Amino acid sequence: MLTADYQRLDRDHHLHPFTDFKALGKEGSRIITHAEGVYIHDSEGNRILDGMAGLWCVNLGYGRRELVDAATHQLQALPYYNNFFKTTHPPAVKLAEALCRLAPAHLNRVFFTGSGSEANDTVLRMVRRYWALKGKPDKQWIIARENAYHGSTVAGLSLGGMAPMHEQGGPLVPGITHVRQPYWFGEGRLGEGRDPSPEAFGRLCADAIEAKILALGEENVAAFIAEPVQGAGGAIIPPESYWPAVKEVLAKYDILLVVDEVICGFGRLGEWFGSVHYDLEPDLMPIAKGLSSGYLPIGGVLVGDRVADTLIEEGGEFFHGFTYSGHPVCAAVALANLELMQSEGIVERVRDDLGPYLAERWASLADHPLVGEARSLGLIGALELVADKTTGARFAKSLGAGNLCRDLCFAQGLVMRSVGDTMIISPPLVITREQIDDLVRLARQALDETA
Ligand code: PLP
Repeated sequence: MLTADYQRLDRDHHLHPFTDFKALGKEGSRIITHAEGVYIHDSEGNRILDGMAGLWCVNLGYGRRELVDAATHQLQALPYYNNFFKTTHPPAVKLAEALCRLAPAHLNRVFFTGSGSEANDTVLRMVRRYWALKGKPDKQWIIARENAYHGSTVAGLSLGGMAPMHEQGGPLVPGITHVRQPYWFGEGRLGEGRDPSPEAFGRLCADAIEAKILALGEENVAAFIAEPVQGAGGAIIPPESYWPAVKEVLAKYDILLVVDEVICGFGRLGEWFGSVHYDLEPDLMPIAKGLSSGYLPIGGVLVGDRVADTLIEEGGEFFHGFTYSGHPVCAAVALANLELMQSEGIVERVRDDLGPYLAERWASLADHPLVGEARSLGLIGALELVADKTTGARFAKSLGAGNLCRDLCFAQGLVMRSVGDTMIISPPLVITREQIDDLVRLARQALDETA
């Protein structure tokens, strides 16, 4: 089929996620046909550097024979069976063991799901069930963060703090509230009469959590949920003061900590989990994406001993699960993915070599007239586009500078994402230094054209 045929059929029949269908009808989609390493290819013969690892997930890059072989082998041996009631199968068991071995020591159980959204649905239910079993049924409120993304199911979008999603979501799950995000460039740097330093702002954001707990009544608050680095919200790397202060607040009022590792997990920040980088001890840890490098859909929740012991010892049957919880083929691919990451030392390479290298190269973009801040940690990075470099004033929203930059980038052979006027990268963890150079060159080219 020709590109135009695909585009016509796509327009006529295919409802894309997070897409303005009408605009898509006018523009037509780019048809991605195949990929290898860090590159995707389109139907017109163009090669594009995937600076987003798909959707923050293809951590091992494209075309890994070992993952294809793991899937093929498992499809032949046992393409499907479930883990309900009293059955299980080798891939689910082996993956559960491997995950618990890699995770922080107190996380010794995992509940599998098909996606990150389902993982966060599971979190919501486990958290509330835990407190009910503890004889504190009023502990129901969950504190999340503005502008956070935790998925697209009703529970996921309710936990998330994205206003446009809330507006379209109908009645949200009750008992969820949001506090400010530790977004220093966007909300902290001007100070507004306060100390404008990142450190002071980090503490201010932790104080906002404490204020919310006190307003709700500590006896009513179940958990706080956040990503180590907020991904889809704009690659928001918190000030160093933020997490230690948050930990203190949660411990003071006995609030569970849920760390959403759907993006930060599996090497993105240069450790197996973002929780390790920030020295967090999550009670629950939703995972997905990089778990299988996106080759097949799988997610889960790693559950800390405190919650797991209560659910198991006192909970009886937990009426929750998905047909594809721990799907054998997805689990086999995820296991092969983890094994490859270990044998190739991927996480250590991000921590010791690629992360520092990207930090240096990415920071070189800070001299561009359009860039107000260039930040990165491990292999996640962001550029803040500004209209005036000296004052840091932003562009008018109606100009759509971020989307323009994203489109110019894509046309020139690099996938970057835009969140408003924040440009984001999150490349595969197998990217080389030379490919990072190329990524930075293409990003600068797109900035020049946007200017
Ligand atoms: N949590 C976070 C932090 C995410 O970034 C995402 C997806 O981008 C999700 C949850 C939802 O995952 P999924 O799209 O697999 O449902």
